[in-house]
Amino acid sequence: MTIEINPLPIEERNNCPEEFSFGATFSDHMFTQDFDEKNGWHDAKISPYHALSLDPSAAVFHYSQEIFEGLKAYRNSEGKINLFRPEENIKRFNRSAKRMVMPEVDESLHLDAIKSLVALDKNWVPDQQGASLYIRPTMIATSPKLGLGASSQYSHFIITGPAGSYFGGGLTPISVFVADKYRRAVKGGVGEAKTGGNYAASLYASEEVSKLGFSQVLWLDAVEGRFIEEVGAMNICFVYEGKTIVTPKLSGSILPGITRDSILKLAPTLGYEVSEAQLDIETILADIDSSKITEVFGCGTAAVVSPVGKLGFKGAEHIINNNETGPVSKHIYDELTGIQYGTREDKFGWIQTV
Ligand code: PLP
Repeated sequence: MTIEINPLPIEERNNCPEEFSFGATFSDHMFTQDFDEKNGWHDAKISPYHALSLDPSAAVFHYSQEIFEGLKAYRNSEGKINLFRPEENIKRFNRSAKRMVMPEVDESLHLDAIKSLVALDKNWVPDQQGASLYIRPTMIATSPKLGLGASSQYSHFIITGPAGSYFGGGLTPISVFVADKYRRAVKGGVGEAKTGGNYAASLYASEEVSKLGFSQVLWLDAVEGRFIEEVGAMNICFVYEGKTIVTPKLSGSILPGITRDSILKLAPTLGYEVSEAQLDIETILADIDSSKITEVFGCGTAAVVSPVGKLGFKGAEHIINNNETGPVSKHIYDELTGIQYGTREDKFGWIQTV
C-alpha cells in the first residue's frame, strides 16, 4: 500500500470543523484499490480525498452492483483511538461481496487500510462526548458495459468523516411505524448483504411514514407480512419484564448487525437472559399492551441503542414504557459505549487501538 500525503499545509486543508452533520464532511485522505481479472486487486493506496472518474456505462450506475460497510473510530479517555470489532465489518464486507458476485478483499490489507487512514487523519476523530469518526468502506462495479452480468472490474475505497453524538443529550425514544404495505427484503434475496439497493428500496416507505409523523419503519417478513425483521437501518430488541432481551433470529433477509451480536454476547454478563426467536407482530403488540414487554430498542452502529417509545400499526398506536427511555436500554447503551470509549473493561477483546 502506498501512502500519498496531502501536500497542502494543514491550515489550508479541509480541516475538521467545530460543527458537522453526519455524512456531510469528509477527512483529508481516502484509501483506494482496483480490481481487474488480469491483475486481481492492485494499486492499493492512501491519497488525498478526491472525486472518482467513472465511465457513464459503469455497471454500478445501471445494475447497482455495490456493497458498503459502516463502522466508527472513538477517541478514548487517553486520547488514543479505538476501533470496535473492525474485523467483523470486514468479514461482513466479504460476505456481501460474495453474495453480489464481487471479488473478496484481503482482510488484513483492509484492516491495515482502515488503521492507516485513521492514524493519518487522527485530528478528524472528534473529542466531543458521544462523537466519533465514521468509516465507510465501499466497493463498486466499474466495467464500462451495459450487458447484464457481473462486472469484471471493481473499485474498493474507504472514506471517513466525523459523526456527532446521535442523541445530543440523553437517549430519546423514537416512534416507529410497522410497514403493512411495503417490504424491505425477501428470503432468498439480498437483505442480509449490505448493498445499496436494499436502502434505495426502503426510501419510499420511509417518506410515507415520516408524513404520518413517525421517524422509522419496522419491517416485516416479505412472505407472510407477519414476522418482525428490523427497524430502519437497525436491528431490533424487545425486553420482557426488564430481564429478557429477545431479538428476531436471523432469517436470511435481516442484516446481521455487529451491535446486535455484541448485545447478545454482552447482555448475559450483565444479568440479562437473551434469546433469538421468530417474533409475530400480533403477539409482540399484545405483549406491549399487557406490559409484558417493558422496553423496545433498535440497535446499530449509528445510535448504538435507540429506544422505541411508540409503535404504529394498522391505525392503532402502542405506547412502550410511557414513551420514556427504560433502564435496560440505558444500561446496554452505557456498557457498550463504555467499551467503545474505553471507560469500561473490554472483557471480550473487541477493541483495537490505533
Ligand atoms: N440493519 C441494517 C439494515 C443496517 O443498515 C444496519 C447498520 O449497519 C444494521 C441493521 C445494524 O448493523 P450494525 O450493528 O453492524 O451497525
